Amino acid sequence: MSFDYDLFVIGGGSGGVRAARLAASEAGARVGLAEEYRMGGTCVIRGCVPKKLMVYASGFAHAVEDARAYGWQVHGGEFDWSLFKARLDDELTRLEGVYRGNLERAGVEIFDSRAVLTDPHTVRLADGTEKTARHILIASGGRPFVPEFPGSELAITSNDVFLFESLPKRILIVGGGYIACEFACILNGLGVEVTQFYRGAQILRGFDDEARGHIAGAMCAQGVDLRVGCNVQRIDRVEDGLWVKATDGGDAVFDAVLFATGRRPNTDGMGLEEAGIALGANGAVAVDEWSQSSVPSVYAVGDVTDRIALTPVAIREGAAFVETVFKGNPTRADHDLVPGAVFTRPEYGSVGLTEEEARGRGQIEVYSTAFRPMQSGFAGRPDRVMMKLIVAAESRKVLGCHIVADQAGEMIQLAAVAIKMGATKEDFDRTVAVHPTMAEELVTMKVPVRTG
Ligand SMILES: Cc1cc2nc3c(=O)[nH]c(=O)nc-3n(C[C@H](O)[C@H](O)[C@H](O)COP(=O)(O)OP(=O)(O)OC[C@H]3O[C@@H](n4cnc5c(N)ncnc54)[C@H](O)[C@@H]3O)c2cc1C
Repeated sequence: MSFDYDLFVIGGGSGGVRAARLAASEAGARVGLAEEYRMGGTCVIRGCVPKKLMVYASGFAHAVEDARAYGWQVHGGEFDWSLFKARLDDELTRLEGVYRGNLERAGVEIFDSRAVLTDPHTVRLADGTEKTARHILIASGGRPFVPEFPGSELAITSNDVFLFESLPKRILIVGGGYIACEFACILNGLGVEVTQFYRGAQILRGFDDEARGHIAGAMCAQGVDLRVGCNVQRIDRVEDGLWVKATDGGDAVFDAVLFATGRRPNTDGMGLEEAGIALGANGAVAVDEWSQSSVPSVYAVGDVTDRIALTPVAIREGAAFVETVFKGNPTRADHDLVPGAVFTRPEYGSVGLTEEEARGRGQIEVYSTAFRPMQSGFAGRPDRVMMKLIVAAESRKVLGCHIVADQAGEMIQLAAVAIKMGATKEDFDRTVAVHPTMAEELVTMKVPVRTG
């Protein structure tokens, strides 16, 4: 049977772009790709990249304060959102062009269109044309999810933050996950009055408890009005903004209410179930370790599979799919010991098990320290950093590393290499400290603070 393409990719985000480019450039496959919004996907257009640029923007208020403490005669300035936003828009357009150019140079045929499946080898584009392919890769990502309640249509999501014409004066952020916490810190740093509701007992569920407490404390100290055990009951539009009735009985008016209460895989209305593709919880495409769906010609990678929703993971899954299907080199994406960062203020970098997870898996030793780092201590800031290692008592392997500090994302990348290689506590101890740094604490912690 002959097909229009060897591979048709639905979605031009992190996973789809990588798979399409590698299949075309390294395996010589005939590849088509459909993207319904902007090339680059969530990460480039409304996720990691614009968010990190906003993290940088939000850090300057503190940097100016620190500069004064270090003897600089700096006179305060105002943050101009419209100036920043114009530069941000230009940068995203530039990156979008880079992604498109890379695909075109690899020989991928791009369709600026929505694509849906009509059968296991056919997709239909928005103009009704159909394209056939030996293999179809679903890389359609995810979208923010807002639960339904009275006034929920007045809530915005993370997608809308990057489109603000002007910054709200008062914002309510609902959610306790990393996206909610990052935006709370970013907007607080940019001078917005931030209230954050989280219905659970502590933010950043699933992360290490000690780190969660540390970050929550730091966020409150910086002025985020964090209310745990609290949710939104209803929202009404009133003259001066949005009136929010909270489940704890309180009420207040905000200029914007941002829901960051989780994401759902983008599978609605894509013809997947009709084509026989099994979906799992929340509508995610169910895949095996090779990213193959229940229909042999259809694979899926990235957030749409609801495995680990991070850009580098989507990229690895896309690359592993190409190795397996187009290069005769069966390769599983490795989901073990994936490091990650939460770009709160301070940042949180983590890899491996949390203390709570490790406790269920045998005897452990916990090495942990919290201290005022030199840089902010000199500036008179109360910030404290946290360094923590979780060690298997018997094998001595470091099972987890948790760092809460400025630049923790940079530090954890390197600690992750050692831990992925199977480093023991004694390997860390044998490594000479780099002085004076914060990270030197990782190799100088001598006595466990807890065992269990
Ligand atoms: C606010 C925010 C911050 C984030 N920060 C980080 C971070 O710091 N680090 C990190 O690693 N990850 C971060 N992420 C997660 C990261 O963005 C995702 O894990 C990653 O983008 C997933 O890539 P993907 O290819 O699966 O999907 P996506 O990047 O979402 O791409 C999917 C693409 O498919 C398109 N599409 C959907 N349906 C169709 C269709 N039917 N036809 C055609 N096109 C379609 C969409 O328009 C989209 O462009 C963040 C996410 C958000 C929302």
